[in-house]
Amino acid sequence: MISIKKFISILKKYYPKTEIRTKETFKKHTTFKVGGKIGAFIEIHDIKTFFNVFELIKKYKIRYFILGAGSNLLASDKRFNGVVIKVALNDYLIKEGRIICGAGLSLFRLSSIAIENCLSGLEWSYGIPGSVGGGIKMNAGCYGEEIGNFVEFVYYTDGNKIYKKTKTELDFSYRHSYFTDKNLVILKVCFKLSKGSKEDIRTKCYEIYKKRKQSQPYNLPSAGSIFKRPKDGFAPVYIEKCNLKGFRYGGAEISSKHCGFIVNYNGKATFKQIFKLICKIKKTVLKKFDIILEEEIIILR
Ligand SMILES: Cc1cc2nc3c(=O)[nH]c(=O)nc-3n(C[C@H](O)[C@H](O)[C@H](O)COP(=O)(O)OP(=O)(O)OC[C@H]3O[C@@H](n4cnc5c(N)ncnc54)[C@H](O)[C@@H]3O)c2cc1C
Repeated sequence: MISIKKFISILKKYYPKTEIRTKETFKKHTTFKVGGKIGAFIEIHDIKTFFNVFELIKKYKIRYFILGAGSNLLASDKRFNGVVIKVALNDYLIKEGRIICGAGLSLFRLSSIAIENCLSGLEWSYGIPGSVGGGIKMNAGCYGEEIGNFVEFVYYTDGNKIYKKTKTELDFSYRHSYFTDKNLVILKVCFKLSKGSKEDIRTKCYEIYKKRKQSQPYNLPSAGSIFKRPKDGFAPVYIEKCNLKGFRYGGAEISSKHCGFIVNYNGKATFKQIFKLICKIKKTVLKKFDIILEEEIIILR
């Protein structure tokens, strides 16, 4: 395997127009505001560039990570000696009650587009700081809804070809989709929505947003809920019952506002502190309630 430095020089030679950034960090690109330096950071605005870069990544067996909005991610403080591909395909099209959009579009923007076009269904997602691609992979959801419920089809790639799958083939279930545990790249998603009144849709979105801000530590860096819902009960309830509310390791704190969130309360939390806190929660809840909590967030070491 070649070094990342050598890889960058090869990439520049073959595709001189590719913009490669070498001074980026995960701290800058995650909502947790944690994580180390990135060997090469490439923002993908068009599919051709993606295939060019990916061809060389595969040829030279370079480590890579596909990044959306970084809102469900805890990245190590150690240097990532590979390529981070930020999916920035943000185009969209409205057609017969559908929004067909690039996977890099933010969920915030998606809801705003739905409001403007009197399309109802995605109100619950208003305020989730993720991208469409990340949302599909995780089957993001809340308040009894999931993104998969509104998908008609998805275009994705393995770096060789572009494939299409329809909703029934996408295996959506609680925080799970066909893409979970696979190294595939979601490119485009079609959402099928229903017609509604612009005012009603907007009002519902704003109400959801208000509810989020009231119940979640929205003003502090975090990655949302750390754990999935266990078979019985709710992770935050178990955590609170273990008297862990407000418990800290360095800059990492179990939020007093919502025990399911860990916050980087002073902006100085490290990967190790957050990880130690996750382990502490899991161990305490297991001991007290015999419940195994499973992480919802992606941990990148
Ligand atoms: C304040 C706050 C509130 C939140 N509320 C909710 C909530 O209500 N419900 C909920 O479900 N989540 C919530 N989250 C978590 C998070 O926002 C969602 O899971 C979101 O969908 C993740 O999207 P992302 O683009 O940020 O993904 P990232 O964090 O960038 O990546 C997550 C995973 O998806 C993969 N990925 C990203 N883009 C692509 C792509 N195009 N193709 C293939 N793989 C890709 C990454 O490789 C990684 O494995 C919240 C987070 C925060 C910080």
